[in-house]
Amino acid sequence: MEAMGNETERAELGRATWKFLHTMMARYPEKPSKEERKSLHDFMMLFSTLYPCGECANHFNKLITTYPPQTSSRFSASQWLCAMHNKVNERLEKPIFDCNNIESKYPCGCATTPSENDSLSSLA
Ligand code: FAD
Repeated sequence: MEAMGNETERAELGRATWKFLHTMMARYPEKPSKEERKSLHDFMMLFSTLYPCGECANHFNKLITTYPPQTSSRFSASQWLCAMHNKVNERLEKPIFDCNNIESKYPCGCATTPSENDSLSSLA
């Protein structure tokens, strides 16, 4: 993979990608099937070879080979990604995020409780 020269592009791509990945984990099943677990594992491994910033991809691939994707539940997957993002933060000398706050930062937004339905219908 080619090096990504422009720092601004690299940062923008990074922010958008982290948002996508954390949101994906927030919506990952709480009780995934065997197939869903395999999909997440394979997705992350392939992602780490194809991410379009060569240096980032090389580092991230090594990182997640050392710390393989945790796929047994939504909680374990989102905590795992949070920890991996923190490993990248550490390397780039960025602030460490408190992973206890992951659910409020990236809400699932997939609950359909009666009260939420009520409040949605009141907007109609
Ligand atoms: P980002 O790190 O992009 O984070 C965006 C927001 O997410 C933060 O503002 C914060 O609110 C929140 N956040 C921070 N940490 C966490 C966490 N642990 N869990 C959940 N939310 C969090 N850039 C390089 O220069 N070199 C690299 O090798 C490199 N590797 C990367 C590998 C991957 C897989 C990705 C997706 C990006 C990589 N980047 C790399 C880009 C880099 O991580 C940042 O995205 C970029 O520098 C912009 O940083 P930022 O300060 O805006 O915050």
